[in-house]
Amino acid sequence: VAKGAGKNRWRRYQNHLHSAMVERLELRSALDHAVNEGHFVLHYQPIVKLAGDDVVGFEALVRWDHPTRGIIAPDQFIEVAEESGLIVPMGRWVLDQALHTVAQWWRILPRVRRPYVSVNVSVRQFRQQGFVDQVRASLEFAGVPPHALMLEITETLLMGDDEKIWTDLATLRDLGVKIAIDDFGTGYSSLGYLRQRPIDVLKIDKMFIDDMLGDTQQLALVSGIVSLAQSLGLTVVAEGIEDARHKRILTRLGCPLGQGYFYSEPMEATEALSWLRNPIPVAA
Ligand code: C2E
Ligand code: MG
Ligand code: MG
Ligand code: MG
Repeated sequence: VAKGAGKNRWRRYQNHLHSAMVERLELRSALDHAVNEGHFVLHYQPIVKLAGDDVVGFEALVRWDHPTRGIIAPDQFIEVAEESGLIVPMGRWVLDQALHTVAQWWRILPRVRRPYVSVNVSVRQFRQQGFVDQVRASLEFAGVPPHALMLEITETLLMGDDEKIWTDLATLRDLGVKIAIDDFGTGYSSLGYLRQRPIDVLKIDKMFIDDMLGDTQQLALVSGIVSLAQSLGLTVVAEGIEDARHKRILTRLGCPLGQGYFYSEPMEATEALSWLRNPIPVAA
């Protein structure tokens, strides 16, 4: 009996593996189709000055606009896109689309209200041949100056000793593009790389903000990141601000910028524009 049960379990396990693989292949081919057909949409989430609630930028966040399944979040497909290389054409679309949108906003808005757009760039996308030229061409095509763009990279990109990455980042930054480290503090990389490197912004991962209220050590980490950034001449964006207490503590710690559901969830471009024209006041 025991042997039979073991065999069944093994078969179930094999079936499970098999269907997981089929699912992944199906996902990949559906994603390939989506890239060819342009079935994606960008949502925009405001990046806000904690003092005064002014919007300084918007992060562009991709969604798969599936014809039958509706809007699909990036955690459902970014990994497969990265593995398969589909992230490269998808990322190109994201960059062009984000710049197209910010160009529209800039045409409509007075100078003091013009936000930058912040675009996530995956490791594979950044490492692809000609990425810097692509950014330059996209900026020119959209007709916006480089300071209308921020690129979000992750610490993973900076691990290892590939000096080409740093040269490319320096070139982009010399153009005037802002460079942010996304999910800062989650990558287990050494801090030494931050010194005299072409970086403008640290984005503190939501994980730290989540635990900050009940955990004094986590609070100490956030406080430490903010002072570290200040002394290195970098600015900081706190991710995942969900309530007024988060905002109050971060303000007290001297964190200049934040982003989170407390201000707004990511929204469609037209909604973001009305946000820019008529900011919704939020309680202190
Ligand atoms: P991320 O770049 O760290 O983006 C922040 C994520 O946190 C977004 O999830 C955003 O909607 C969510 N978020 C913002 N504020 C709050 C909050 O107050 N509470 C909670 N619970 N969540 C909040 P989203 O849009 O699902 O994106 C997930 C990740 O997918 C992003 O994390 C980014 O790594 C990746 N991603 C999104 N768009 C792109 C893209 O165009 N290219 C690449 N390569 N990756 C992308
Ligand atoms: Mg990001
Ligand atoms: Mg982030
Ligand atoms: Mg994050």
